[in-house]
This record gives sequence, C-alpha cells and structure tokens, in this order.
Amino acid sequence: MRDGLLPLFQESYRELRPRAPVPEILVEFFAFANINNTIRLREGRLLVRLSDLLEGAPRQVVEAMAHILLAKMYREPVDRARASHYRRYVSSHYMTQKAHLVRQLRGRKRIHSAEGRAYDLAAIFDELNARFFDGLLDRPQMTWSSERARNRLGHYDPAHNAIVISRVFDHPRVPRYAVEYIVYHEMLHLKHPVRFEGSRRSVHSREFQAEERRFPQLQAAKNFLRAL
Ligand SMILES: [Zn+2]
Repeated sequence: MRDGLLPLFQESYRELRPRAPVPEILVEFFAFANINNTIRLREGRLLVRLSDLLEGAPRQVVEAMAHILLAKMYREPVDRARASHYRRYVSSHYMTQKAHLVRQLRGRKRIHSAEGRAYDLAAIFDELNARFFDGLLDRPQMTWSSERARNRLGHYDPAHNAIVISRVFDHPRVPRYAVEYIVYHEMLHLKHPVRFEGSRRSVHSREFQAEERRFPQLQAAKNFLRAL
C-alpha cells in the first residue's frame, strides 16, 4: 500500500480540483494511538499523516480516506458513498479491536488514563469521531475528572487541549449513550471554537446546535441527565 499512496492522493486531488496544479504531497503513516488522519498545508506542500492502523486497509478504503481528507481541506462536498465506505471499515469489529489493542499497548506509558471503571473515554471519542466526523478530529487528552463534581458534566479545556468528563458518569448504571452524548457535545466544542459576535460570545452557535441534533439519542440522554 505504501508505494501506491502518493499517486492515489494525486488522483484524488485532480478529481476534486481539476484546474489547479497538484501540489507536492507528502504522505506518511504515523503511530497514532487511535485511528486518526490529518492533513495540513505548509508552504504550498500538503502533509498527510495516516494512522498506521490503516496500513493494511484495502485500496478503496485508503482511496476514500484520501478523498475525505482532501475534500475537507478544500471545503468541497464529501462523496457520500466513499464516506460511508470508510466509516463502515473503521467501525467494523476488526478495526475497533485492533485500535483497542494498540491503544492498550501504547497507552500503558501514559500517566493520565482515559480508561475508567465502566467506560474508556478514548474509545468513545474514536468511535464518535468515526461515526460523526469522518475520523478527522484530533483527539485531545481525554480524562475523567478527579472530583465527583456534578455541576459540570464535562468541559473542553483548550489550554491543555483536554476533554474532562465528570467521574460521576463512569458507572455501569449510566447508559453508554449518556456518556457518548456528553463526549459528543465536547467534541462539538472542539470543532466549533467560541466565536465573538460583536461583544457577545457565541458558545453554542446555530451550527453547533444543528450538529448536536444529529446525535440519535439526544432526547433520551437529556432526559437521563435531567433526572440525575
Ligand atoms: Zn457546551
């Protein structure tokens, strides 16, 4: 796969932007602890980092990934068939297991653990990332809060690039969708930074709220949290 990667990205670029000259593209596999793919434009060069978890992926999957990354980069519409093809592959049992295994091996060295007694926040982030964000969000540090604070469900801390979730929810009696919803909400904060409209801060903008409604169990999660 490695050798065929560059032409694959070049083809995808030409398809997306037929009139623009193809820039220099650098593709490398990177040992992310999760399924994470990033693209950056630096001094006219495209730098692509693919998770090494995709190393053995079939050609169509990597092709779909190339398309998704480039489309996001140039704000072109993402082809639905390819997006769902990619999502299906990533969320398949095999990939989830492999990601989990790699995370366990790599994660041991970390001091802060996203893994609670009931829920692994990093795993939840990765699954939501694949399901709702085409795997394009960079995972910040995921941690359970140290205190059992109930007043704050969770928050995104931009200074430390961390999502902190209240430990109250790390309990088997808390339904998974409730934890997922709290994490999903914080991921939206990651995607939609606070905007200033005049002197007003727009924390939960219209786009934020519209995207929040894409979470299937939104109402159930809100009901559960309200009943606490
Ligand atoms: Zn919020």
